[in-house]
Amino acid sequence: MISLTRLTNGTLKRTAPEMNPLLEIRNLQTSFHTPYGTGRAVNGVSFSMNKGEIIGLAGESGSGKTMTALSILRLLPENKVHISAEALRFNGLDLLSMTDEEMRMIRGHKISMIFQDPVAFLNPAFTIGQQLTDTILTHMKISKQEAAALAVETLSKVGFTAPEHKFHYYPHQLSGGMAQRTMIAQAIVTRPQLLIADEIATSLDATLQNQIIDLMLLIRQELSSAMILITHNLALISQMADRIAMMYAGEIVEIADKENLFRNPFHPYTIGLLESIPRIDKKSEFLKTIPGNIPDIFHYPAGCNFSDRCPRVMEICCHKKPGYYELSPGHKALCWLGERAATT
Ligand code: SF4
Repeated sequence: MISLTRLTNGTLKRTAPEMNPLLEIRNLQTSFHTPYGTGRAVNGVSFSMNKGEIIGLAGESGSGKTMTALSILRLLPENKVHISAEALRFNGLDLLSMTDEEMRMIRGHKISMIFQDPVAFLNPAFTIGQQLTDTILTHMKISKQEAAALAVETLSKVGFTAPEHKFHYYPHQLSGGMAQRTMIAQAIVTRPQLLIADEIATSLDATLQNQIIDLMLLIRQELSSAMILITHNLALISQMADRIAMMYAGEIVEIADKENLFRNPFHPYTIGLLESIPRIDKKSEFLKTIPGNIPDIFHYPAGCNFSDRCPRVMEICCHKKPGYYELSPGHKALCWLGERAATT
């Protein structure tokens, strides 16, 4: 798969994948076992990413984006969830065969996740400085004083003014933007190689959203961390990602570099989502929508998962699952229309 590398002058260059990608996922499947049956939340997700690359996982709520991230980190209850994959490797290490203790050392150190709701994630009983210091001491062999100094430095890095003072704040003293910055500080304080950010700017107003985007891009530049951005906000992803994977019903239905996906969207789901974005240059009375809902994880259609909402559905789509078609280097779509495109 073709990827993008940022050159030192800031431009992007297409590159072949590294021999050893930072993250390699092949045919990831995540199933939930419930009294009502087995539901498949992730259905054969595959992608790999290089060091420093930003991949956006986009799609409506319930499309499997967060489940993919939680599966990578094995943060789902093992007694109820079954995760399998042909490959789930980070830096060549097989994440699925690691012990719980080994996974704990990877999480929050080599791979960090920034969650959607920072206030719920932060412990109200401890100051943010204490929480940051504890994270540092869990993963780094340094003294308490050094950890506290690193915590203050990280608060400053994520944009806190007077960080020595804010170090002593409790979570209830933080505004929404400050709470999100604290979560980002928690995630980057150990300089992870991979950051997973789940809807990090969704609940913020436009000004704060832009500040968080700038901050994340600065972090990528400084730490060279790769990032997986999970969002339903295509405008946000367009500002940050190098590549975009569109998810629907637990599958990646289209993946391409950002420019290609926005200029030449192929999958009817991608086209539908792009047409539903409000545009100032288009005078239309109503925004387009995609009728219907994502199928629930217990009842997928027999053929293409998008068949009951797709404006271009064909007979074959209703009874036979499509495969991936490569439309151009690195641009793939899971759609029977790809077969036609390949033969015309
Ligand atoms: S396979 Fe058929 S139903 Fe599915 S997205 Fe393509 S055209 Fe639509």
